[in-house]
Amino acid sequence: MQTKLFIGGEFVDGLAGGTIPVFNPYSGEIICEIAEARAEDVDRAVTAAKAAQFAWGRADAADRGNLLLKLADAIDAHADELIELEALDTGHPVRDARKLDVPRTSRCFRYFGGMADKFEGFVPPVYPGFLNYVQREPVGVVGQIVPWNFPLMFTSWKMAPALAAGNAIVIKPSELTPLSTLRIAELMRDVGFPAGVVNVVPGYGHTAGARIAEHPEISKVAFTGSTATGRRIVQASAGNLKKVQLELGGKGPNIVFGDANVRAAIGGSAFAIFHNQGQACIAGSRLILHKSIADEFLDGFTKFARSIKLGDPLDPTTEMGPLTSKQHQERVLHFSQVAKDQGGEILTGGKQPDRDDLAKGYFVEPTIVRAKPTDRVSQEEVFGPFVTVTTFEDDEEALAIANGVQYGLGSGLWTANLTRAHKFARDIRAGMVWVNCYKVVHPGSPFGGVGESGYGREMGFEVMREYTQPKSVWINF
Ligand code: NAD
Repeated sequence: MQTKLFIGGEFVDGLAGGTIPVFNPYSGEIICEIAEARAEDVDRAVTAAKAAQFAWGRADAADRGNLLLKLADAIDAHADELIELEALDTGHPVRDARKLDVPRTSRCFRYFGGMADKFEGFVPPVYPGFLNYVQREPVGVVGQIVPWNFPLMFTSWKMAPALAAGNAIVIKPSELTPLSTLRIAELMRDVGFPAGVVNVVPGYGHTAGARIAEHPEISKVAFTGSTATGRRIVQASAGNLKKVQLELGGKGPNIVFGDANVRAAIGGSAFAIFHNQGQACIAGSRLILHKSIADEFLDGFTKFARSIKLGDPLDPTTEMGPLTSKQHQERVLHFSQVAKDQGGEILTGGKQPDRDDLAKGYFVEPTIVRAKPTDRVSQEEVFGPFVTVTTFEDDEEALAIANGVQYGLGSGLWTANLTRAHKFARDIRAGMVWVNCYKVVHPGSPFGGVGESGYGREMGFEVMREYTQPKSVWINF
């Protein structure tokens, strides 16, 4: 298990010599102590990245792509190990990590490995006697800050396009879940990424993260995390006017219409909120049900929630693991009280499971709460296995409820009516809309939000634009 910082192609201790304990959220025990990156380590990493970026950005794009493809193969070859690492510090059930996180990670590196030599500039028609061509240049040194909910997958979302575009990176995984990112760094070293192109600095947000956000030689920060931290990053970025890309919180509406296939909607809505213990920015955390199917839906959905198998993330039959930290468990549990205080009704869950074998883990039972759309639990991101339910009479009301929050990230609707589906897809205030499905992602499809969910997009050609800047060259002939 790798526990050191990765700077300039080597695994090193932090200059101050501090360490951070990494917890197993199932047992509550410390798995290991990792080296702590502080501001001065970020500075070292930026120096290494700067030194490497010039050659990396000018290398044959196909060579950059080939390294990403090799990395994708190495991830698949080490899938078992990565699955276990991810389960150990996040609490992801291995069942999910095997089916989703690891294949999505290698797929992302593979996609952008293929993209590296296909992202083109253009030649606009200009005045006679002039040739103008526009090339896309890497931004330079990019700082990347990621949260703890999908550490492995987000490492690939951040690293792959930035590297394909020719940037060098300094990435800070969450202090809670650094293990899989450090293992990826080892695999990168092993497949031959040049020293300094990738630097990994696990540290706390207020020290290492804050230094990345303010660093004068970092040209762009790509951040995934909470809206509150996103605001701080924007403020800190003002010093050198760095580019900022923000993937922030969400409060995804999930509308089930009267004409929906209720059975499919129940299964899909359970995945939307309970997968990864609800710790997903795109979770479908607000169920908005048409009155005509509300009882039938809730009956099936509540049964589904109660049947989810909680357990040890390393057990291949476990369907839901613990939340990732004790502090977060307490926060999510507190929201049940917040709901009750405003007249909400807990239909199921709302507490820790009453089981001796789970007592040390940071578990929360799948929770369904009937609440008004204006209640705090319907407005604030809970980020746990916690879904609010409300009902509507007509389409207009459904849309008003769906759009009645500050966030605009993921959204979903279940209907057999094509016209209604397109109309809502147009009118919902969100970066992503899923019709008769939820939380489908692909490296080719833009991912990101509007409003307090942030700005900028991951994935596809959109993200390649984020990690490059156009240079316009004029030739007089
Ligand atoms: P967080 O904002 O507390 O932390 C995210 C990262 O930022 C961590 O690495 C942390 O160390 C760092 N950080 C904290 N303070 C910082 C500071 N002052 N300067 C720089 N970096 C700092 O978020 P979290 O609790 O780790 O993650 C959960 C949040 O992430 C939720 O709000 C969730 O919706 C959001 N999220 C968004 C997306 C998306 O794509 N939109 C995806 C996943 C998670």
